[in-house]
Amino acid sequence: MYVATPKVSKVSCVRRCASKSRAQGGSTLKLTGSGLSTVSKAIFNGSYGRGDDLTVAVRPRSDTALTVRVPVGAVSGPVTVVTAEKAKSRATAPVAILPPPPPAPNPVLSEVPGLGASSALKIETGTSRTRAYVGARRAVTFSFRLTGAVAAPPTVDLVRATDGETVKTWAPELVPSGETQSITWDGRIGRGTAKPGRYSFRLTAATSAGAQVRTAQAGTGERDAFDLYDNMFPIRGRHDYGMGPGTRFGAGRAGHSHQGQDVFAKCGTPLVAARGGVVQFKQYHAAAGNYLVIDAAGTSVDYVYMHLAEPSPFRAGDRIYTGQRIGAVGDSGNARGCHLHFELWSGPG
Ligand SMILES: [Zn+2]
Repeated sequence: MYVATPKVSKVSCVRRCASKSRAQGGSTLKLTGSGLSTVSKAIFNGSYGRGDDLTVAVRPRSDTALTVRVPVGAVSGPVTVVTAEKAKSRATAPVAILPPPPPAPNPVLSEVPGLGASSALKIETGTSRTRAYVGARRAVTFSFRLTGAVAAPPTVDLVRATDGETVKTWAPELVPSGETQSITWDGRIGRGTAKPGRYSFRLTAATSAGAQVRTAQAGTGERDAFDLYDNMFPIRGRHDYGMGPGTRFGAGRAGHSHQGQDVFAKCGTPLVAARGGVVQFKQYHAAAGNYLVIDAAGTSVDYVYMHLAEPSPFRAGDRIYTGQRIGAVGDSGNARGCHLHFELWSGPG
């Protein structure tokens, strides 16, 4: 069977564009060309390397045109389309994609607008934060209140903005009309942790008239959205990476190589846990000085902080949250200049 190789000759932004018709996460692009009727997905190739590639499903409109939504998180680069039979187009010229603005805060219950036909039901939602860290003390809380005739318990989905996938679902109890409920999420999915990126809560309710109401369309990620980060930068102040290559991981040293990354900051600059977990060691060593090892929850990696100004107030067995202060930058042990020597120990051992 002959299968046409798809060809894209032009890319333009047609909806939800940034200024001057430039694309951003959430924009709709129109691709024109030929052989497009069997295209099933589009790949945003981003910068070089595959680490930033994002693939989205596509429904073609005709043989010569299709529209595709730019996933949140996509960066500037060529676009490729692929048919169900795996015929691939040549990459387009790079498409400029602006990063999306941060999510709009919605920390207090507010009414979901535009529910239209189902005006018999009033839905209010709120999300406690727009920036969340895995392993942090304060998780993200989604609150909601349904007022009116609800037929069945609602469901709450956590939707990943990059691909519109539902990564977690909650089924809260049915409570009387007008009662506020909330759901808290700590960044975990099962035993692992969710990928960093943008997420949003989506509530689905059924009215007694039989209509289904949703607070957001899948993947638009506009209402009740937040960004999840998996690590926090450990030095909370001005810092630099020192002069020359000797401060880097793997740099040559007499008889060994540098096993961490040095980051310089004034002695006394606050140091926080890049990732929360349980303290494995708090010790002094002639070379490392005052050091602390934290076993990061949900990973097989230990985070190691050396040359602390003073011994950390924590000790083995203590639970630490992401972003919690663990000490200060210092030059204890064998250190030339005040700096953090930071290591990641991969498991096992
Ligand atoms: Zn070092």
